[in-house]
Order: sequence, then C-alpha cells, then structure tokens
Amino acid sequence: MSNDSKIKIGWFSFSCCEDSTVIMTEVMNDHWREWKKIFDFRHARVLKTKNVLDELDIAFVEGAAASEEQEKKIREIREKSKIFVAVGACAVQGLPAGQRNTFTEGQKKEIEFLLARFGALPKVLKLSEVVKVDAEIPGCPIDPNKFLEVVNKLVGEFQK
Ligand code: SF4
Repeated sequence: MSNDSKIKIGWFSFSCCEDSTVIMTEVMNDHWREWKKIFDFRHARVLKTKNVLDELDIAFVEGAAASEEQEKKIREIREKSKIFVAVGACAVQGLPAGQRNTFTEGQKKEIEFLLARFGALPKVLKLSEVVKVDAEIPGCPIDPNKFLEVVNKLVGEFQK
C-alpha cells in the first residue's frame, strides 16, 4: 500500500506524564506489522525525528492544555485532522495534569510567579474545552485493550 492510501496518523502530547505514549508503543510492539501496512505516521515524536503537521486522518492527543501556546497548537491539530481523539484522563477530564485548578486561593497565589514565567493559562483545560473532540479514551493510564478497540473501530470507518 502506498503512503497516499494509508491512514494518516498524528500522535501528540501536551501537559501530562506521557504514559499513553508508552502504552501506544507497547501496543505497537504487538501490532507493528499490520500498522505498518495501513498507517502513515505523519507526526509521532516518540517514533521519529522528522514530523510534519499537515492533513491528518486521525489525531491522538494526550494531555491537557496548560498554556496559550498549547491551546494554539491543539486548535491547529484540530483544524488539520478529520478525527480528533482525546487520550487519557488528562486529555479527557483535565486531571490529574490540572491539579492546580483545585488549589486554594493561597496556593494559587504561591504559584503565580510560575504561571507568569511559563506563560501558563489561569486554569488548565481539558481538550474538549479547547476544541471539538470526536472520541475519548479515558483512564489514568489508559487501558491498552480499550485503546486498541478505538483504533480498530476508527480503522474500520476509514476502510469502509
Ligand atoms: S491520564 Fe494519567 S497516565 Fe495519562 S498522562 Fe495523565 S497522569 Fe499520565
């Protein structure tokens, strides 16, 4: 299958511990032969150094949005993707990455200088607060079988 006819995939990480990335690579250990035939990984920094963000069929996005820069990038990914999948609890519900949202006023005051230094948003956002999300894979960390189930379902839709 030529790259043109493969499903174009992007994998992105924002504020989080990137555990879903680890799980994706573990799942890939078992499925790389079939994935190699059907997926064109356009953007996946864990897999390759040359990445492009152009037209994507499916974007898998883990992590929450903690800065304006991240928000902008998430919007760009959304614009360039047919299907946008939020992966993991940080992406789906903004936690635990957004723990500072639950801080007391006193604790928030204490971290103000850090927010200013890193250009952070006043509140950490789950992805659905930034863009339209088409599918969600909850869990902290995600369940590999659930991840595979969503991948297979989406592949089925693209291969109709
Ligand atoms: S949801 Fe949990 S495992 Fe996934 S990135 Fe966030 S903290 Fe890590």
